[in-house]
Amino acid sequence: MTDQKSYLRDDSLITTHHAEDYEHYYNAVVPPVFMNSLHVFETLDSFYSADPHDMHQYCYGRVQNPTVRIFEEKVAALEQGTGAAAFASGMAAASTAVLACVKDESHVVCIRNAYGPLRTFLTGYCAEHMHVKTTFVDGRDLQEFEEAVTDKTDLVILESPSSIVFSLQDIREVSALAHRHGALVYIDNTFCTPIFQKPLQMGADIVMHTTSKYIGGHSDVIGGVLAVRDGTLFDKLLQMRELLGGIVGPMEAWLMIRGLRTLPVRVRQHQETALAVAQFLKKHERVKKVNYPGLTCHPQYELMCRQQEGNTGLLSFEIDGTVEQAVKVTEALRIFKIGVSWGGFESLVFMPHMKMSSEECKILGGEPQIIRIHCGLEGTKYLLEDLESALAGI
Ligand SMILES: *Cc1c(COP(=O)(O)O)cnc(C)c1O
Repeated sequence: MTDQKSYLRDDSLITTHHAEDYEHYYNAVVPPVFMNSLHVFETLDSFYSADPHDMHQYCYGRVQNPTVRIFEEKVAALEQGTGAAAFASGMAAASTAVLACVKDESHVVCIRNAYGPLRTFLTGYCAEHMHVKTTFVDGRDLQEFEEAVTDKTDLVILESPSSIVFSLQDIREVSALAHRHGALVYIDNTFCTPIFQKPLQMGADIVMHTTSKYIGGHSDVIGGVLAVRDGTLFDKLLQMRELLGGIVGPMEAWLMIRGLRTLPVRVRQHQETALAVAQFLKKHERVKKVNYPGLTCHPQYELMCRQQEGNTGLLSFEIDGTVEQAVKVTEALRIFKIGVSWGGFESLVFMPHMKMSSEECKILGGEPQIIRIHCGLEGTKYLLEDLESALAGI
């Protein structure tokens, strides 16, 4: 027998059973998709006396929905936070979080390798309309954060590991530093998923996932989620979501609940395959560099072991050759399909830096010929064969 408390400790019990309310749904083993825009009331008094803080008091679908709620409770438990809020995309979650944390003339510190559209949001809209100033840092060196974060800083934005060059930030040290200056710490935890990294336990204030990646897991949904510990911050995020209107739809939330069910087993398989692929590439004579934090030769391997319990299926490598040769390798792959995104069942390949200037590449830390691959669930053997034959062509 497992009691409610152990549900909160074990990730697999959370993804399978936590926050399920069988009696309310005719004991259906899978909750229904609550495809409704509003909930009705017996009396006006019951409507007006509803407690806005009661998470199960449903009124209108832009504010909350029972299917969305089940998903959020699972994510909050996985991240060991007090609450989670789900959004229609990762970017809806990210931009809502930023807008909830900054004010006119705020200072933000952000890692250089953060997700591109989020950087564009900061340097575009937030700079132009709210006079937000962003200082970009490499993120590997604490000293750099010490110089960048001041008492004027309201928000520190991390993504560890980052998703192209796979550099890490020390979540505990950066959070402690940010808090000494009264700043909040936001971290994109999409690569690790809550199964392999729990940033709220290390001091981060807001954890973001794009559920379009591993949490959805089947390349059939776009969504995002924020998890937090602090109740006041949670209320603020919920209010911002209500005002900006970015809540996820019930059908997507249902798919995200389904994705969560198998998340612990999927990420372990992605890890096993990606590690074998990374080790294969590492030994290959045409490969100059492999970026995967699970390799013992990764320059931040020790930090990785301190803050992560694993790595998932995404990695990048640079061939010993020209951009044209990298294109040739990419296009010769058969199982790895060319496409953005990652975290689904399928293997993907992309060259994110190929159209960038060498100046931009230098800032981001990866050469134009960098090839990023997502190791899917087709089977390690087939992926190794695919890479072997593609690399043999150059
Ligand atoms: C895809 C991605 C996002 C954005 O998520 P969307 O659901 O596409 O809006 C944010 N961060 C990372 C690391 C991503 O890979």
